[in-house]
Amino acid sequence: MTPLSDSLIRRVIQTGPITVADYMAECLNHPEHGYYATRDPLGRAGDFITAPEISQMFGELIGLALAQAWMDQGRPTPIALVELGPGRGTLMADVLRATGPVPGFAAAAQVHFVETSPALRAEQAKRVPDAIWHDTVNTLPQMPTFLIANEFFDALPIRQFTRDAAGWREHVVGVEDDGLQLGLSSPAPIALLDDRLVDTQPGDIVEHCPALAGIVQSIGATIARHGGAALIIDYGDWQSLGDTLQAVRAHETVDPLATPGDADLTAHVDFAAVARAASPAVYSRLSTQGVFLERLGITQRAQMLAKSLSGAALDQHIAAHRRLTHPGEMGETFKVMGLTPPGAPPLPGLTA
Ligand code: SAH
Repeated sequence: MTPLSDSLIRRVIQTGPITVADYMAECLNHPEHGYYATRDPLGRAGDFITAPEISQMFGELIGLALAQAWMDQGRPTPIALVELGPGRGTLMADVLRATGPVPGFAAAAQVHFVETSPALRAEQAKRVPDAIWHDTVNTLPQMPTFLIANEFFDALPIRQFTRDAAGWREHVVGVEDDGLQLGLSSPAPIALLDDRLVDTQPGDIVEHCPALAGIVQSIGATIARHGGAALIIDYGDWQSLGDTLQAVRAHETVDPLATPGDADLTAHVDFAAVARAASPAVYSRLSTQGVFLERLGITQRAQMLAKSLSGAALDQHIAAHRRLTHPGEMGETFKVMGLTPPGAPPLPGLTA
């Protein structure tokens, strides 16, 4: 039981079962007891570890890819260098260090962070003190925009549905025996899932992220109008299929209902939904993270860094390279999609 379990149980008893999305939103973003509101969950000592925390190579290569896209588009100035959900600010710090030598880039770039967590904003300010913070993408400046979102979309609440002969049953969080319990609503047709009737069977589970389309539309419109590019990196696949809701605490998978507010909750990203919302910007073919990083030259970069390392530091460096790229580790589960203005060349490492 957590402080949030009590208030969630009371809410469900008073107003009825809630959607998985409402449950996730409460657990992650509750201003007092929410997971992100109250802590820095990242890194070896935290609940989970992300690519930029595994190795500096990740942010460096992404920085150079964005700087190349900036040069390909005629070095516009000024530009917004945007990150959604920047965690500890490690990725952006690596981006800024790696792009420092690119003539004109640092002078053109103004860093904008979209971040809701006060605890993580404080961490980000330590590494990127000159950033400008936003609560949502809606207040980002209208100018050429080079954007990165790593493990941001997976933190947005999702609704879950099981297909049924008579329509879809939504997964809802109710109360049974004084505890939170998952249940299913009565079957009903759901217009937003009509396109999934062709590729699913009764019994299949699909997920829908209500906030995703609005965010991607806003980014796509800015990039198509003013120039720039976006790199979206996350676990997921072309289309959502199956239950991907996951709760992680201290690097272990736990029951999503057991400790609301104390475990990270995520779901795989539906990249087909990203692609649908991108217009008028153009989306790239979906790549795996491993292939993307190889194309950007991670192995050469790893070999160069290895020259100055030995002993445990070298072992850790080799393990980090493997962890980011190997199909059995993050290399295949994590996918990358780029957005660019119509007519612009695809981002380095990605194909049209
Ligand atoms: N990109 C970072 C952190 C990933 S964790 C990394 O790769 O290390 C998810 C991040 O998104 C955190 O910074 C979290 O506070 C932020 N976040 C989650 N939901 C958000 C929302 N609705 N709006 C803005 N930021 C959010």
